[in-house]
Amino acid sequence: MIFPMKIIDKINEKKVTVSFEIFPPKKQDAFDSVKNTAIELTSLSPDFISITYGAGGSTQSNTAELAAAVENAGTAALAHLTCVRSTREQLTESIGTFKSKGIQNILALRGDFPRDASEDENVFPSGLVHASDLVPVLKDAGFCVGGACYPESHPESANRDDDIELLKKKVDAGVDFLTTQMFFDNDMLYSFLYRLQSAGIRVPVIAGIMPITNANQVSRMIDLSNAYIPRKLLSICDRFRNSPNAMRQAGIAYATDQIIDLISNGVRGIHIYTMNKPDIAREIVRNVDSIVAAVNGESAAK
Ligand code: FAD
Repeated sequence: MIFPMKIIDKINEKKVTVSFEIFPPKKQDAFDSVKNTAIELTSLSPDFISITYGAGGSTQSNTAELAAAVENAGTAALAHLTCVRSTREQLTESIGTFKSKGIQNILALRGDFPRDASEDENVFPSGLVHASDLVPVLKDAGFCVGGACYPESHPESANRDDDIELLKKKVDAGVDFLTTQMFFDNDMLYSFLYRLQSAGIRVPVIAGIMPITNANQVSRMIDLSNAYIPRKLLSICDRFRNSPNAMRQAGIAYATDQIIDLISNGVRGIHIYTMNKPDIAREIVRNVDSIVAAVNGESAAK
C-alpha cells in the first residue's frame, strides 16, 4: 500500500506538479458516478486531487468520502473545508472525519457569503470569519494546509493592494501553499505573482486552469470569478458555440496553450478544474505530459 504524502512535500520534491479538482454530486444517487470519476482521474497519476466542500448544495460528508477514495487509490487528496455557516462543533466533527480517513491535506476556505442570509443571521457561528482564522486550527491538528488566492482580486476586496495585504495575513497564519482562482489570461497571473513577491509572500502558488469546452460556461465563469476573458477565448466561444466537438477541441487547445506558457515561464503548479470530466483532463494531460516530464527530469507516461 502506498501512503499518500503531504502536498507540500510533493511540491518541494518536484519542479512541476499537475493536479485536478472535482466536486461532489448535488444528488446522492450520483455519488458512485463521481467516485468512479475520481478513481479514473487517479489513473492519470496526478500529484493530488482536490475535492470541493459544500459548493452548490452538495453534502459535505461526500467530500470526506471522495477524498478517502482518492487516497485509497494511492493519490494524495486535498479536501476543501469552509467555515461559513458552520459551528465550532461542526468544524471539529469535519476535521475529525478527515483525520479518521487518513486525509493529510486541507484547503482552508471561508466560503462564499450566503446570498440568502438575512440581516440578523450570524453566518459565522464558529467565530471563524476568514480563512486566516481556520488555518491555525488546521495546522494545530497536523494538516498540510492550502489557501485560495485571486489573481484578479477577490470580488469583496476594496482594491488589489488590500487583497494582497489580507492574503499575507492568511499566509502568515500558516498556509503551506496557495491555489489560484481560475484565470484565462496568463499575464494576470504573472502580474499577481510579481505583487506577491513584492509583498514578501513566498509560499508556492498553484495555478488554477479551467478548460472552457462549452461556450455557455464562459458567462457562468464570469459570474463566479469575475475573470477577464481574453478576445481570443471569446472568439473561440462565438465561433464554435453551436459546434460542440469543435468547441471542446478548441477549449482543450486553449487550456493546453495556457499550461505550456505557464510552465515555460517557471510556474511550478498546474491545477486543472476538471468539472468532473476525466476525458478532458486526460486529453490535456496527454498534450503536456512530455513537457511536464522534461521539466521534472522524468520520461513521459505512454
Ligand atoms: P478569505 O481568505 O477569508 O477572503 C475573503 C475576503 O475577505 C477577501 O476579500 C479577503 O481579502 C478578505 N479577508 C481575508 N482575510 C481577512 C481578514 N483577516 N480581515 C479582513 N478581511 C479579510 N467555495 C466553497 O464553498 N467550497 C469550495 O470547495 C471552494 N473551493 C475553492 C477553491 C479555490 C482554489 C478557490 C479560489 C475558491 C474556492 N471556493 C470554494 C470559493 C471561496 O469559498 C470564495 O471565493 C470565498 O468568497 C472566499 O473564500 P476564501 O477562503 O478565499 O476567503
